[in-house]
Amino acid sequence: METPHLRPRQEYIDRYDRITVERCRFVENATTAQSLEKYFKPETDKEALENAAITFTKLHLWFVAGEMYSKKYDTIAGWMKADEELDKFYERTEAPKGICCLMCGRDMFVTLKHLQTNLDADPQVLFMYDCTLNHLPRRMFFNNGKEWIPEKPRCTKCNTVVDQVSEDTEKMWKTTSTCPSCGNVEVSEIERTLFKEEHDPDYDNDRARFCDEKEGEGYVEWMRTAKEIGEILDKTKEKEENKELYDAVANIRRLKIIQVEELLAPVLEKKDFVRLQFKDPEITRDVVVPFTTHDIQDGREDRASCHDLQKLIKKTLEDTNWRLMSDGVTYRLGMLEGRLKAYEKEEDLIKLVSKK
Ligand SMILES: [Zn+2]
Ligand SMILES: [Zn+2]
Repeated sequence: METPHLRPRQEYIDRYDRITVERCRFVENATTAQSLEKYFKPETDKEALENAAITFTKLHLWFVAGEMYSKKYDTIAGWMKADEELDKFYERTEAPKGICCLMCGRDMFVTLKHLQTNLDADPQVLFMYDCTLNHLPRRMFFNNGKEWIPEKPRCTKCNTVVDQVSEDTEKMWKTTSTCPSCGNVEVSEIERTLFKEEHDPDYDNDRARFCDEKEGEGYVEWMRTAKEIGEILDKTKEKEENKELYDAVANIRRLKIIQVEELLAPVLEKKDFVRLQFKDPEITRDVVVPFTTHDIQDGREDRASCHDLQKLIKKTLEDTNWRLMSDGVTYRLGMLEGRLKAYEKEEDLIKLVSKK
């Protein structure tokens, strides 16, 4: 019934490029030697100012055209999606039923379906109804069931509804309004040329200059690199600022499970904790290894035993990436149990050393 809103892709490209050209044209004329004067020393000569203006404009253009290019295809996809949605909305919206002719009371039928879009309101569909006997008035309803009653033009002098006659010529849209009450006559003339597209002889050339695909890709690539460099610099800076921390992390001894066992066993034995045994590790986000050992020292109480063992483990593992877990150790009949946790990720290791 109505031309679909979704248009061929090229039309969106044309629309987008026109915006790009307009912006770039504006930029191209925005900076002059004169407008730069205030940023330079008073004795700067005119040629230097002109060169500065040219350089600045080039850079500014490169940036604006590049930014437009970088958003081009996403924007176009967005526009097309929105128009496609409008078409879907138009398609699925049904006309209100049971609209009757005001003259004869017969059911009217839909003769026009029109999508109304408004920037600040949801789209609506307007339906026009005719009577099978062609009675007037026709009626118009929105999809929400509200009737649309057009405002009739009124006389500016006495506010009476006027009679209008239209005479359109090739050059003009001409409407004559005559007031039946006071006789006031008003003529409105709108020149058709106003709505004609202005001839723009430079457009193709400007479009080629400002909407160049290759230049655009170059810009996008450059920005990506710049961002990466920025990130590297930030990281380097942060590393310099936290040099001690990173050095400490670098000095941590990263041990395998078996190496931890080999490290601990002799140290513990010297203090009468024997037969150190590691159980199967619990591997989730971290590696946690439960262990048992036996206290063979005569007369050492359970609490003293736990305390000694914890202190010993803590000290031995201090410069490694392993820690005794915060739930500590438990003691039963001379057997002590606990869990060790490995820190592997850089950020965890940083936390580990900054806790010291
Ligand atoms: Zn009728
Ligand atoms: Zn009047």
